[in-house]
This record gives sequence, C-alpha cells and structure tokens, in this order.
Amino acid sequence: QLKNSPTQKLTNSKTHQLPNSPTHQLINSQTHKLNNSTTHQLKNSPTQKLTNSPTHNPTNSHMDKLKTRILQDGKCYEGGILKVDSFINHQMDPNLMMEVAKEFSQHFGDAHINKIVTIEASGIAPAILVGYIMQLPVVFIKKKEPKTMENMLTSVVHSFTKDRSYTVCISADYLTLNDHVLFIDDFLANGNASMGVIDLCKQAGAHLEGMGFIIEKAFQKGGELLRQHGIRYKALATVESLENCEIKLR
Ligand code: 5GP
Repeated sequence: QLKNSPTQKLTNSKTHQLPNSPTHQLINSQTHKLNNSTTHQLKNSPTQKLTNSPTHNPTNSHMDKLKTRILQDGKCYEGGILKVDSFINHQMDPNLMMEVAKEFSQHFGDAHINKIVTIEASGIAPAILVGYIMQLPVVFIKKKEPKTMENMLTSVVHSFTKDRSYTVCISADYLTLNDHVLFIDDFLANGNASMGVIDLCKQAGAHLEGMGFIIEKAFQKGGELLRQHGIRYKALATVESLENCEIKLR
C-alpha cells in the first residue's frame, strides 16, 4: 500500500469504530429513523413499503424480497428494458439496498479484494454499501471526462438503454496494479459496461476478482460473455424474459 492510500485510511478508521459492527448499527439506525418518520408519510409512500422490509421479516430470504419487488414494481419497456425506478434507479430503498450489499459481501467474502469499483450513476448506491460493509474504498468510473482528471484511463462503452457509445474514464491514481477489484453494478444486459471495466482493469494492471449485479437479464448476452472471459460473477436476481411485457424471473 501507498502511504495515505484510501485503503490505509479505511483500515485505520476501524480503530474508531464502536464494538458493534457497522452493518448492525446502520440497519438499526435506519429502522429506527424509518419508524419514527411514520407521521410524515404520505399514503402509498415508499416509506410505507419500507416498513415491510427484510429487517421486519427475518424469515424472508433477502433476495426473495428483491425478486418480489421486481415482480411487483418493475415495469417492462420496448426492447427488453426493465424499469425499476421506484426502488433502484431513481427512488431508492435503502433497506433493500443494504440487503443487496450484504449478499454481495457474503458471496465475495472469500475473494481477495481490496477495492470496490462501480460505474455512475446507479451502481454507486449498492457499491458504497458493499464498501462500507467490507471496509474497502469505492471508486466509480465516470461517464464524462472531467478536464481536471489526472492520469486518465479511458474505454469506449456502448449503452444498451441509450443506444449510443460513450467514453468512460477512471484515474490511474485510483486503479492500480496493486488493486484486486470487485465490480458492482445495477444491471447486466449485453455486458458492454463490463467489457469496459475489464479493459480499464487491464490498462491499469489491476486484478478483476469478481463482478456483482443486482439484476441480470439472461435473455441478453452479458452473462455468456463474462463466462467466456472466465470472470466470476454473481447476479442476485435473474430475469429470464420480458416477452409480452411479462416479467419472468428464474
Ligand atoms: P450492459 O452494459 O450490460 O449492456 O448494460 C448494463 C448497463 O445498462 C447498466 O449499467 C444499466 O445501467 C443499463 N441497463 C441495461 N439494461 C437495463 C434495463 O433493462 N433497465 C435499466 N434500468 N438499466 C439497464
């Protein structure tokens, strides 16, 4: 590790933690806040839905909760697009996101990882929670090239939802040959973003240890592509089909 590296700071910060684990504290404090806020809730507000969160229903598998939410609140769009704006992509459910992050942290707990990498914008929320649980720094790949970025590494990625190509970038200051990366994102579709990440890691000499996606659309070729590249990946919910605007999960 370099002096003053983010990993070092995180490691040092552990000594300032209370004896309870950070995950435990966060969940407790969220539940507490959400319960207190009930008087301010609107009818059908997301807070109301949060009351049914896994924290209150320990018998439900966490990822069952994710799957139920996709089936209940997900919306199909032309061209195989699944909209989950009410709990992942626009409004976010922090309790569900924390469960998602815990699942990723457990799944990749055996891997030798020292950095979480994601891509803006929707990957940031789950990634930062994974970083918090695993006590690792989180870096997000940017979709616009800032004029001020030093030692920039770039790759061209085709966006499935926007149907256009754009340049993504990350500073080589935060992705180095010392890094063992877990990449976290919201969706795996055709694997274009993932190929960009593989390319950036290659350029930096970083080791890609695994990739975690909240939702994989199995009817697109991303999963196959990652398997071909020998990448370890985990999707927490798998959409088999969106045909006739019906969400079919595996
Ligand atoms: P890929 O690069 O694997 O082709 O597509 C993954 C990226 O495109 C994700 O970062 C995600 O933001 C976006 N994406 C792909 N498919 C969908 C979808 O069905 N719904 C949403 N909300 N985003 C998607």
